[in-house]
Amino acid sequence: MNELLSTPIEFLKGVGPQKAQLLQKELGIFTFGDLLNTYPFRYLDRSVYHKCSQISYSDNYLQLVGTISHVKEIGSGRIKRLSARFTDDTGSVVLIWFQGASWIKQSLVVGLNYQVFGKPKLISGIWTIPHPELTAIKDLTIRAGFQPFYSSTEKLNSKGLHSRGIEKLIQTIFAQHQIILPECLPEKIKKENQLISRTEAMRKIHLPQNELEIKQARLRLKFEELFYLQLEMLIRKGVRIKQIQGFRFEQAGTPMLDFYKNHLPFELTGAQKRVLKEIRKDFLTGNHMNRLLQGDVGSGKTLVALVAMLITIGNNHQAALMAPTEILASQHFETIKELLKQMPIKVGLLTGSTKKAARTILFEELMSGEIQLLIGTHALLEDPVQFKSLGLVVIDEQHRFGVAQRAKMWRKNKIPPHILVMTATPIPRTLAMTFYGDLDVSVIDELPPGRKPIQTIHRFESHRVALFGFMRKEIALGRQIYLVYPLIKESEKLDFNNLMDGYEAISRSFPMPEYQLSIVHGKMKAEDKEYEMQRFIKGETHIMVATTVIEVGVNVPNASVMIIESAERFGLAQLHQLRGRVGRGAEKSYCVLMTGAELSKEAKKRMETMVRTTDGFEIAEVDLQLRGPGDLLGTQQSGVLDLKIADLSKDGQIVVLARDAARMLTEDDPELVKPEHQALRERVLVLLKSRPNWSTIG
Ligand code: ADP
Ligand code: MG
Repeated sequence: MNELLSTPIEFLKGVGPQKAQLLQKELGIFTFGDLLNTYPFRYLDRSVYHKCSQISYSDNYLQLVGTISHVKEIGSGRIKRLSARFTDDTGSVVLIWFQGASWIKQSLVVGLNYQVFGKPKLISGIWTIPHPELTAIKDLTIRAGFQPFYSSTEKLNSKGLHSRGIEKLIQTIFAQHQIILPECLPEKIKKENQLISRTEAMRKIHLPQNELEIKQARLRLKFEELFYLQLEMLIRKGVRIKQIQGFRFEQAGTPMLDFYKNHLPFELTGAQKRVLKEIRKDFLTGNHMNRLLQGDVGSGKTLVALVAMLITIGNNHQAALMAPTEILASQHFETIKELLKQMPIKVGLLTGSTKKAARTILFEELMSGEIQLLIGTHALLEDPVQFKSLGLVVIDEQHRFGVAQRAKMWRKNKIPPHILVMTATPIPRTLAMTFYGDLDVSVIDELPPGRKPIQTIHRFESHRVALFGFMRKEIALGRQIYLVYPLIKESEKLDFNNLMDGYEAISRSFPMPEYQLSIVHGKMKAEDKEYEMQRFIKGETHIMVATTVIEVGVNVPNASVMIIESAERFGLAQLHQLRGRVGRGAEKSYCVLMTGAELSKEAKKRMETMVRTTDGFEIAEVDLQLRGPGDLLGTQQSGVLDLKIADLSKDGQIVVLARDAARMLTEDDPELVKPEHQALRERVLVLLKSRPNWSTIG
């Protein structure tokens, strides 16, 4: 069978060298096996006929039975078109051809019964089917079952390899060869999850007779795909734990105990305590920790990180905290210095704007171990930054860092430091499981007590006067306000002008000296940003006009109003992250989403979701539905998940099943050495080789 599957596609009847080359280039189909692994994305039940009068917007491809009349050519020469009326007992539609008009006209017989197959479009208010497939009823060989649809490309189309053409090739394979595939899932797993065999699935995915067969085939193939992904990650994790020696931190240590007893500003939440226990446990095993900390905006991830860093310091190693922006890094620095001010711990800050002289001293103090805790930006990654003994790296807002960057921190020490990566906002469970499957995951699912819920309001441009009134009222109550403008790369210039215009308009409506404004955007120098930020933090300014540079991490408890301009241009994760900047103090907080009146369906859904809930986990789920996994994780990471049939935004349940199955299997046979796992082992080895080493992605 392997031989058949690896036969070059060129040798399939109806292909030949030219088409083979195209199939390779356009769809990556090199062999019979590749063709079989090209699955249909949709099916049409060919036993169901539509009526002309019942066509609606939701219809994709459909088939009708009726007769042709009113055949006419429109235009002349190269722009000649052909149209015909097609009528059944309920009404009629128009058939239209933009090419081959004369030839098609010749073959049409008025009054004869035809089956029409195509995709209706509303053109000038009339249902029209462009380039339909026409078969005279008398010639019709009754087509049982479902017709599959394959994706194709323009180039393939022009060579007759449209969906129909690919379908024919598949039919040829099945007609000329006996397709029997070796089973690649253990019998036990198949049984427990009620999966059909691989051979059966392959036939049913391409040549289904009914809906049930499609379902069975999809379930089997999706499960298989996700199962192998999970297995791969569990194996990687196993290898990492086995091969990489980690630091063992035996004691909680004086700094941590001192902090916990004497300087902790508030009682930790149950979730924070639980996560710390999980981290502590990792530290005690001597295994290398690679942990993802998931938590909603404001759930108190920083404090958890700090305690973990103090344990590290108490065990005579250094700790580093890396943040994606200077603002955030210096804010972490200030917060942590304040929290530790009565403790004998030396904290350093390193960012792009740290001066050369200061750097030199800092590097020396890192090498000597004098600096125990280093906070900073990407600057931490640079080669001259060397530690005496780096025991723990915390990466805040990890999605802002690339894979290679994160891996770089691993190599700052002979024994790789423990790694704790933190999300900005939650990632849906199924995504985390698939994408970060080789990491351990901790979740803070509880906000600190006493938070007042944030009220979110969606307003149109026409409400601006009322909005200004509301702002004045809040300022009179002593509150501060964020006013955020989009700044998105593609239209940076335009956006920048909008921001500046907005700033001017606000300055006019909120004039000095009664009102003080800050402004922060990406084009400012770091020190100017810092200055403006500090003014706002100290309460010297009332309104902070900004771009999304303030999106992550920034913490000003007295700011209780977040106004987001052109909110329709932001994604859900960003909106949620921005909203998370308020609701941090004791006052009731508001988030106002300003949009134009015309909103796309998706934008509407985003606004509705924001108004309805403040639960980051819930928002992440909606985001996944709207955007799909690739966009959610960011381009840097989406490529790793090249799934053929499973869809992470829809197949969450299968992910969980596959995960459980893979876990049970690896617990039973961690290295897949049992004879019945031979096939599994071989396939996993191929997978492990074909992908970059994920174990250092962290
Ligand atoms: P995030 O998880 O978004 O990074 P932070 O760590 O910035 O959240 O915490 C948000 C705010 O909550 C900070 O002002 C922090 O001091 C406060 N905080 C954290 N933990 C607690 C707690 N257990 N009780 C009360 N406030 C807390
Ligand atoms: Mg944070």
